[in-house]
Amino acid sequence: MSVSEEKDRHEELIQALADYDHAYHVLAQPKVPDAEYDRLFSELKALEKFHPAWVRPDSPTQRVGAPLPEGSKFPRVEHAAPMISLESLFSMDEVEAFHERVLKGLDGEGGEAPNYACEPKWDGVSASLVYEEGLLVRAVSRGDGSVGEDITPNLKAVGGVPLRLRGQAPALLEVRGEVLMPISSFDSLNEALVGADEKPFANPRNATAGTLKRLDPAPAAKRGLRIFVYELARLEGMTEPPTHSKSLDALMEWGFPVSPWVEVVDGPKGVAAFYAAMEAKRGEADFEMDGVVAKVDQKGLRDLLGSRARTPRWACALKFAPREEMTRLLKIEIQVGRTGRLTPRAHLEPVKIGGVVVRHATLHNARYLRELDVRIGDTVTVRRAGDVIPQVMGPVPEKRDGSEKPFQWPGKCPACSSAVAGKGELQFCPNLDCPAQARRRLQHFVSRGALRVEGLGEKAVELFSDAGLLSSLDSLFDLDWNAVAALEGWGEKSVQALREQVEKAKEADWPRFLFALGIPGVGPETARALCVPFPNLDSMREAAGGDKAEQKFTEVEGIGPEVAASLISFFREPRNLEVLDRMVAAGVSPLPSKSLASGGPLEGSTFVLTGTLSLSRGEVKEKIENAGGKVTSTVSKKTTFLVAGAHAGSKLEKATALGVEVLDEKGLGLLLGEDSP
Ligand code: NAD
Repeated sequence: MSVSEEKDRHEELIQALADYDHAYHVLAQPKVPDAEYDRLFSELKALEKFHPAWVRPDSPTQRVGAPLPEGSKFPRVEHAAPMISLESLFSMDEVEAFHERVLKGLDGEGGEAPNYACEPKWDGVSASLVYEEGLLVRAVSRGDGSVGEDITPNLKAVGGVPLRLRGQAPALLEVRGEVLMPISSFDSLNEALVGADEKPFANPRNATAGTLKRLDPAPAAKRGLRIFVYELARLEGMTEPPTHSKSLDALMEWGFPVSPWVEVVDGPKGVAAFYAAMEAKRGEADFEMDGVVAKVDQKGLRDLLGSRARTPRWACALKFAPREEMTRLLKIEIQVGRTGRLTPRAHLEPVKIGGVVVRHATLHNARYLRELDVRIGDTVTVRRAGDVIPQVMGPVPEKRDGSEKPFQWPGKCPACSSAVAGKGELQFCPNLDCPAQARRRLQHFVSRGALRVEGLGEKAVELFSDAGLLSSLDSLFDLDWNAVAALEGWGEKSVQALREQVEKAKEADWPRFLFALGIPGVGPETARALCVPFPNLDSMREAAGGDKAEQKFTEVEGIGPEVAASLISFFREPRNLEVLDRMVAAGVSPLPSKSLASGGPLEGSTFVLTGTLSLSRGEVKEKIENAGGKVTSTVSKKTTFLVAGAHAGSKLEKATALGVEVLDEKGLGLLLGEDSP
């Protein structure tokens, strides 16, 4: 690049980043993924390092946040000490270089080696809290770092914010912390927004920012916002602790929630170990973390190092692999599910997200697709978090060049060409014989949660179907084993193993079998509930086919008219009855579930599972449910037992705090009357 090209690029980057800052900080609606922002920011920093004369006061490298919005409804407040940002690092090499810079900055002064207090970098919204004589008098947003907005009523509604300090209070105390929305609250909030025809939030951080921007503090309380305090900023009328870690102890004593994981280490190796430990916790915590922060622990050394315009020299943030990336949308494929539901699936230019190459992502349904206005050829933001299926979050309209093509929702099923039927916003293929549905139904039928036929995974079902060996569900019990043995990759041993599995499946638990049939609306819980009053296939068929069928079904707890209608139409459809008859003729005879005969030993007990258990969560859950217990996902006063495996995190802390009894796997085994679960 020539110098004049570099200058143009410099200007372009400033403009783009300023625009992204505004969308992110002021509107709480990011235009591009953080990873893209971070790349452009690093490019700008590199250019300015090379051409120091180009640095301008309005460059994003010199600024924190974004200018406050015009006409804001909140009063403005100047921060007594600026709320600056943190230097972002993306590799261990950069941490080594940071450590070198710290040592060089101290240059033998201070007389002691720096220690680093390591903490999770919680991904929320920062706020400053001011206490006078122990009483909360003001809470202020970060704003542009110098001036923020007075959001005291909202912060008072945030869980864990003490309105009055405990113990001996100083004359003045200012603390900083990160306000967060629990992932569980975020999920239910978004579900409710979608249900109410409103736009969902892109991630918990935006949901937090959006909630704090409201004048009414009620949503902040209702949406379960929480805070972790991470910095003592000002203290008057008392001696300040000599280290950051001791300050955190003091903050805890005053009653502030402090991050449960804080560790003081003596160099980059310790930071790396902490980073690895937090990365493992990332999927487990109910709050989003986007990295770890390492801060020089000794305050005397911090003072010697000082700060730059935007970031302190004594701290750094080592970021985790991003969860959102940008890529191109190549094609939209309409998939046909086992109930006939049509789901749009994005085919993407392969992109690495969190260490995994993503090629496909969900676009949920026709309405989502329409509202996002995603077009073929668009650059889109894709999010992949934990085990959740990657999803397309939306297009990046600035990247359009006019060649993108709107997507036409098909009028016909892509697999069998039947005319598509609509049920509200959802679109269906109504043809029971649709081959795509048949395959999905079979895949579900044999899956782990259903009949659990080991060795017959999704690919094998495809292979068997292509070879004409599997069609309807009953064909599983009438397989031509010679033809299976002739399939590529199927030797004598694997055929024999599959035969045994199929035999075993004939005597599956009745609730599992009912769930395996894939009746719309009948998940494992519903199936279990139905199997109490209808303890076998015959009684179920009889109920569905007889008088007052709807009433009989809706009398079962948790069954509404929709599921009742779905059961009735399933068990009255002659083709389904033929399939069931053929299964029975082939020897299929679901066994009544042991647990359902009488109230199991765990009846009335509610369990929450956490940490790494020796069996999968699904398996432990099933054991508990078979014994009559209930498994829920959040710890509350109503929880009877928390089953904690290795690396248990926040749930264990919460259970301990609430006095909920904690069991290990052995303890659960004893309750179940076995040695281990
Ligand atoms: P930052 O979020 O990277 O780091 C600083 C912040 O970390 C602090 O203000 C504080 O709120 C928080 N934090 C969490 N835990 C902490 C702890 N233990 N100790 C201290 N601080 C802690 O920096 P920023 O200035 O708030 O935002 C910049 C980042 O925001 C960028 O790196 C980018 O990823 C993102 N961003 C994205 C866009 C976009 O368009 N997608 C636009 C602007 C900014």
